[in-house]
Amino acid sequence: MSTTPTEGIEALLHEQRTFAPSPDFVAQANAGAELFEQAAADREGFWADQARKYVQWETDFGQVLDWSEAPFAKWFVGGRLNACVNAVDRHVEAGHGDRVAIHWVGEPEGDTRDITYAELHGMVQRAANALADLGVGEGDAVAIYLPMIPEAAVAMLACARLGAPHSVVFGGFSAEALHSRIEDAGAKVVITSDGGYRRGKPSGLKPAVDAALAVGETSVQHVLVVQRTGQDVEWTEGRDVWWHEALEAAAETHEAQAFDAEHPLFILYTSGTTGKPKGIFHATGGYLVQCAYTNHVVHDVHPETDVYWCTADIGWVTGHSYIVYGPMTLGATQVMYEGTPDTPHQGRFWEIVQDKKVTILYTAPTAIRTFMKWGREIPDRYDMSSLKLLGSVGEPINPEAWMWYREVIGGERCPIVDTWWQTETGAIMISPVPGVTETRPGSAQHPIPGIVAKVVDDMGQEVAKGSGGYLVLTEPWPSMLRGIWGDPARYKETYWSRFEGMYFAGDGAKLDEDGNIWVLGRVDDVMNVSGHRMSTAEIESALVSHPKVAEAAVVGAADETTGQAICAFVILRQEAVGEADEAGEGQDLVAELRNHVAKEIGPIAKPRQIMIVPELPKTRSGKIMRRLLKDVAENREVGDVTTLADSSVMSLISEGLKHGD
Ligand code: ATP
Ligand code: MG
Repeated sequence: MSTTPTEGIEALLHEQRTFAPSPDFVAQANAGAELFEQAAADREGFWADQARKYVQWETDFGQVLDWSEAPFAKWFVGGRLNACVNAVDRHVEAGHGDRVAIHWVGEPEGDTRDITYAELHGMVQRAANALADLGVGEGDAVAIYLPMIPEAAVAMLACARLGAPHSVVFGGFSAEALHSRIEDAGAKVVITSDGGYRRGKPSGLKPAVDAALAVGETSVQHVLVVQRTGQDVEWTEGRDVWWHEALEAAAETHEAQAFDAEHPLFILYTSGTTGKPKGIFHATGGYLVQCAYTNHVVHDVHPETDVYWCTADIGWVTGHSYIVYGPMTLGATQVMYEGTPDTPHQGRFWEIVQDKKVTILYTAPTAIRTFMKWGREIPDRYDMSSLKLLGSVGEPINPEAWMWYREVIGGERCPIVDTWWQTETGAIMISPVPGVTETRPGSAQHPIPGIVAKVVDDMGQEVAKGSGGYLVLTEPWPSMLRGIWGDPARYKETYWSRFEGMYFAGDGAKLDEDGNIWVLGRVDDVMNVSGHRMSTAEIESALVSHPKVAEAAVVGAADETTGQAICAFVILRQEAVGEADEAGEGQDLVAELRNHVAKEIGPIAKPRQIMIVPELPKTRSGKIMRRLLKDVAENREVGDVTTLADSSVMSLISEGLKHGD
């Protein structure tokens, strides 16, 4: 290996717009500038304060952080707590039992349930007793494979109550994916449902569990089945138990026990955008502290007055941290929605915002770009004046999508928090603090108080302003992963070996002239064109800034002269589609888009090829899977599509391209 530092990722895009929070927002905000000062003055002391502010400890902790066995951390050493008691019981004890915890909205219209904290308390106690009756105790893993129904949250909390780590598997995953996750965790019980609603139709979940358990020997002793759709299910006597019957038979009250701060709370697999998903495991204390703290400081949740809505699925980390553990630890009121944004119509989200008077909305760039594609007339039909803050997570948000979100959804009044974090980090790490930060479209901006993040070059040295490099975390944080389940060596190798003493997230980033951090996506996706290292995200953003483009994905395809060449796949906005279909128009548009990129970021970034496509391949958590597009761009057989949300997308793309030739 050469010891000379190679070039970092080139920083291409220049975005100057900034938006200060309104005086009204600042006046009511949970966090002010002093939080940054406190954290900078004494980081561990700061976290100790947050831990005692947001979490109720049965036994107080001593040492804040034990890093003596780095990279294996212990936070809040000696502290004991129960996560479920923190999320439920204590709100009832404090007299908030009548507050709605969940405004649940089913996919079929009119199918709704409001569940108060007192009702939730009743449900988690019975569920914990029912699980205990099935032999689940401290340290026993439980797999959860459910649709977005309140029982999913109840199941997670009941496990936490018993000290039984849960492993939630996204309800859209196949029997094989479920099987490997069940066995990796050694789950004793699986909690599932007969089925769930998806795009207007009931679809089965229990059959996938039956198939997963039929694969071979299994650790599973019982399957607990929630009745959701009422469809017929196969039944294995002695193994399968109806949830409603088990809860009814269970004792009404359950005395919760406290567990060590480091007791495992859950295992969760990453979304698999870059390869085989990793089983990430999180401990109880630090995780709960950082979830509640960030939900309060970044989402600015006021539990007494806000109606918060995070649109993620419970099967992803966002659903864990920002549907269950963050908001519930704060005692917030939230919306939980079962279905897709287009069922039964494309205004469903905005109708929910209007009906439930949602004040805080947290969603993903992929959803925002889809709404852009559908056109603003749809959200414009609804009254969304209740909204006060918007959030984004999951991928870089292109500046133009950010602007659309701000103008069309936020009425130019709501601060936007672009939150960078990962399954591994457990909670938000880099984000504006909405009452303090002047936001900049497309940038996650700065680490939040208590977190230290940097952009470094190949040698681990901080890059200068205006340059690109690798995003690293240089100090441990409370909600950090405690490892990869059952594989400590892989934990060290994956995250702690690239740069000495630093956590390497796998993402590229740049620092702009004002010191803001821009996450540029995976370093695996960085392209090398004639020796220039460029990120896909910046070129995608330039394409999306063209008024006819709703979404874009860029890949580097092998090229004889330049090493790699930029290939772009583009989805047009609804109103531009017809135009491109007319003879000749498509070619003109491609030329226009190529020139647009050259104008926005320079001739070096001009794509060799632009393909107009109806859809892009995405993972089940909505992230673009660039490796498949690379296969298309390099005229290869398309690789493994099993973790795609819709596997027919790839044939749609290839078909379209053949006809276009
Ligand atoms: P795998 O690690 O298996 O490939 P994954 O990284 O997609 O899957 P997650 O933990 O769900 O699994 O996603 C975390 C990643 O999502 C981050 O590393 C980053 O690439 C991306 N990401 C999340 N939030 C943002 C954001 N606000 N801006 C840019 N990228 C983001
Ligand atoms: Mg990842």
